[in-house]
Amino acid sequence: MIPFYKHNLNNKKNYLKQTLNSSYLTSGPVCERVEKLLCKKFNKKFSFLTNSWTNGLISILLSVKLKPTDEVIIPACTFVACANVVEMVGAKVILADIDEKTKLLDVKDCLKKITKNTKVIMPVHLYGNLFDTKNLKNKIRKNIIIIEDCAHSFCGEYNNKVMGTFADFAVFSFYATKSITCGEGGAIITNHKKYADIIRSVSNNGMTKPAFKRFVNNKYIPWDVYNFGFKANLSDINASILEDQVSSYSKIAILKKKLFKKYRYNLNNIKEVSLPSENKNKNRDYYLFPIGVDKKYRNKLIEHLLKNKIFVTVNFRSISELHYYKKKYKNTKCPRSEKWGKETISLPFHVKITEKEIKKVCEQIKSFFLKN
Ligand SMILES: *Cc1c(COP(=O)(O)O)cnc(C)c1O
Repeated sequence: MIPFYKHNLNNKKNYLKQTLNSSYLTSGPVCERVEKLLCKKFNKKFSFLTNSWTNGLISILLSVKLKPTDEVIIPACTFVACANVVEMVGAKVILADIDEKTKLLDVKDCLKKITKNTKVIMPVHLYGNLFDTKNLKNKIRKNIIIIEDCAHSFCGEYNNKVMGTFADFAVFSFYATKSITCGEGGAIITNHKKYADIIRSVSNNGMTKPAFKRFVNNKYIPWDVYNFGFKANLSDINASILEDQVSSYSKIAILKKKLFKKYRYNLNNIKEVSLPSENKNKNRDYYLFPIGVDKKYRNKLIEHLLKNKIFVTVNFRSISELHYYKKKYKNTKCPRSEKWGKETISLPFHVKITEKEIKKVCEQIKSFFLKN
């Protein structure tokens, strides 16, 4: 059996034990340490650990205070959470089509969809393939907020600049199958003090001080509620699993790059298989390994691989084709995204996969096309 994903966690250093022996289990000193690490790595003034990417994004959108007529542009081919968070705060989802080659947000279509109501654009570094945020930023009004979805890209670099450099906010996910994980979790990074203060309280039920900060030198600090809030903070238990991964991830990224190249090499001579093309001048992260095949073969190939105990999946379909969104936002057409959603398969790809397993996956794909 070749599993789709295997995590790379161990508890050799007893991080969890240390946290369990301390008195703060949530939003305490461990979270604070990891947030400092993130600020340093991404060269930002503020970072917030959240209990998911989804809740991190909702915290940002609440702090920006969107009105029902405000519009948020997202690429049509991405994880459905990108659209759900916009619905959640009662704003409008605007889907822009993807670029035929990179499968990332198509800048031309995005520019076409900007109106006076556009408040936020959310490019996604899908699969770890890097979107050129700087180029987009140069082409849009200054008061449009850019939020980079970095759920697939922790270590990516564009022109030697870390993730989030050209965005107002960047948000990471530490969900179970992501490159860095603590089961469920996420992080926001930003330089905006104005929003940062609101995000901190919004993510903690609108309160001005988390429990950990309410007693300083045995003095009680009064708290109040100025913003409507909900619950998005991360526990120290989760954060203690993250700490080591944040510092050591670049080693894993190098290994994943090697495995990615191995895959690409082994698929090279199968003409029925296409890969999203990578943007130049970028030192990307390698998160998923998607391939594209003609839609008439796609589901049959999935069946063939599953029969041979190779676990593959379809990660992203076009949001314009998902029932809820199709019904609510009628007449949204994103043909390139819809096409890719019907052609794509994600192959098993994780740090624990061996070169032999990669070869086997590719051989099974080859033998499928010899028979079909
Ligand atoms: C996983 C993922 C998310 C959501 O992350 P959660 O931490 O599960 O909320 C958002 N965007 C993309 C592209 C993802 O793959």
